[in-house]
Amino acid sequence: MKTNMSRDPSKPAEVAKIPEPASLFPPLTPGTLYLVSTPIGNLEDITLRALRTLRECDVIAAEDTRHTGRLLNHYEISKPLMSYFRFNEARRGAEIIDRLKRGQKVALVTDAGSPGISDPGQRIVRAALDEGQRVEAVPGPCALVAALTASGLPTDEFHFIGFLPHKPGQRRRILERFKQADGTLVLYESPYRIEKLLGELSEICPDRKVVLARELTKRFEEFLRGSPVELLELTQSRVLRGEFVVLIEGQA
Ligand code: SAM
Repeated sequence: MKTNMSRDPSKPAEVAKIPEPASLFPPLTPGTLYLVSTPIGNLEDITLRALRTLRECDVIAAEDTRHTGRLLNHYEISKPLMSYFRFNEARRGAEIIDRLKRGQKVALVTDAGSPGISDPGQRIVRAALDEGQRVEAVPGPCALVAALTASGLPTDEFHFIGFLPHKPGQRRRILERFKQADGTLVLYESPYRIEKLLGELSEICPDRKVVLARELTKRFEEFLRGSPVELLELTQSRVLRGEFVVLIEGQA
């Protein structure tokens, strides 16, 4: 082993900095729509690449500019923001395409998690691809993945159906259809309809294991496990606030 005898032992050894190959962290590509995943609760859940993309893009299209503004503030990122949400998708979509055609790098972020999963995003991705523009995902948090992986239910096959429609007949039809499937059924539900959903599950699949993943990555995160009736009783004895992912065991 070679030692450096000429080093002054009273001074701390210099740690050699290994230069990072530029190819590992290439600059953003002009004319690209970046789908940047952001935290679903815990602000620490953001990748280094997501932060760099937000710093280096030309503009950030956000579902809620105030909400995203708080995230950017936290990470001391200052960047022009434009709003892109369900009710201005068509108009703002055209503006985003125009920017991409002019070679701009546009980062799309939604209120939480991965853009395009049960939030605005899907439409602009289709439009950008149809116009021959590049689309790149900057992966990161996603409520469905966090809930599924920690649920204890099978992950080798699962069916994600996002939010159920509001009409009772349509909800029941979908739940009846997926009852026949082998994999875990994963869906998003608002806290206002969780009791209604558990009531429906108590009738449609009373013997299945159900997991409610609540407030993921946040201070009061919890996983509630039981049959639909057990969980229904729980929701009647305790107010369960916050956001939910609901997971239902597949056919045995
Ligand atoms: N794009 C997001 C993603 O990647 O997960 C989902 C957006 S969708 C509009 C919002 C729904 O995701 C919520 O109603 C809830 O069902 C689920 N969700 C988001 N954050 C959550 C959290 N921290 N805990 C539990 N569920 C969450």
